[in-house]
Amino acid sequence: MKDLQNVIVRMAPSPTGNLHIGTARTALFNYLFARRHGGKYILRFEDTDKTRSTKEFEKNILDGLMWLGIENDEVYLSSERTDIYVSYVKKMLDNGTAYVAEASELNPDKKVIRFKNPNKKVVFEDLIRGTVEFDTTELEDFIIARSVDDPLYHLAVVVDDHEMKITHVIRGEDHISNTPRQILIQEAIGAERPIYAHLPLIVDADHKKLSKRKHGAMVWVDTYKDEGYLPGALLNFFAFMGWNPGTEKEIFTLPELVEAFDIDRVQKGAAVFNIEKLKWFNKEHIKLLPEDEQAAIRAKEIGEEEYIKTAPELDLEKIAWKTSTKVEARTNLEKSLPLIGDKDALMKFAEEAGKGNVLWPIRYALSGKDKSPDPFTLIEILGVDESKKRIEKAIDQLL
Ligand code: GLU
Repeated sequence: MKDLQNVIVRMAPSPTGNLHIGTARTALFNYLFARRHGGKYILRFEDTDKTRSTKEFEKNILDGLMWLGIENDEVYLSSERTDIYVSYVKKMLDNGTAYVAEASELNPDKKVIRFKNPNKKVVFEDLIRGTVEFDTTELEDFIIARSVDDPLYHLAVVVDDHEMKITHVIRGEDHISNTPRQILIQEAIGAERPIYAHLPLIVDADHKKLSKRKHGAMVWVDTYKDEGYLPGALLNFFAFMGWNPGTEKEIFTLPELVEAFDIDRVQKGAAVFNIEKLKWFNKEHIKLLPEDEQAAIRAKEIGEEEYIKTAPELDLEKIAWKTSTKVEARTNLEKSLPLIGDKDALMKFAEEAGKGNVLWPIRYALSGKDKSPDPFTLIEILGVDESKKRIEKAIDQLL
């Protein structure tokens, strides 16, 4: 183990999209690790991809991290560090660990800079995944720069980590296959190898990787910010996506997380994103607020729910949207009806029959909206009688 007295970590987002929950989770783990060991946490925007990086995304990421309370000690922009990368590319060309070559056989006139792959086995100890081995032969002589002054990600990341004396690279598991290339470059420039810790992927309830294409707005931190979630609740939720304290305690403030965080307790297996759990964390964090703030949140919630004061008009196709048929939607509503007001029983039934199949028709029957609070919150706001009335109405319409 490297000296934990001098921990320096970095969060290295590419500003090619808004702040993603996976990015926020990685930032948090880096932050917790640094603060736990009295080290330094650096934020480094990797804007080397000039076509996809924008200032707007950079601002969104920075604002989102600040809103969450993940404060950095230093900020850097890769685009302002080109001279440093260039000096390393030149060094590599000089010492023969890189060479100028054609981009591809199809395009012999276009020149790029390739790394001279020693074709060897690379082994590293990952704090989370254990011993990882790669044969680098299949990577061939990969490209490290488009030209001497246009370095690519692998080179920039290694140079920056080296120059910034990064001791621990804590990042998403999707980067594990980049690690052998980066280790080879480190060896070529004589850089010390940092300790790696690859965090488990975040997946949905079906164990599918969370992606903006498949999951839409739920991957953006802004979505939760706009919906009124407390930053402390999100942090607590993110911390538990891949880590647990090994005790019964679940509600943690940020300072408490810093105190409790232990990277050895980060799991290897995928971390499941569970929105119900986030809602629960949010409720619990609201309870930590002073009385007057709690009352203000409650009043705002009720104000926002004004629209559900009158029974909604229902679209029958929509009510059956998540179930396969209207008959199934109706059956599930009928079975749910006597359970309204008994949260545990309703949840149990939903778990048996499929959450979306049960909870969506209820939610829609109660609110008539695509977007609304979860059915349990709606039942709480509307009351059991009014909720039952609306569900009965939906059942009638589905007959
Ligand atoms: N810039 C990379 C990304 O946004 C992260 C690189 C790293 O952590 O090494 O995915």
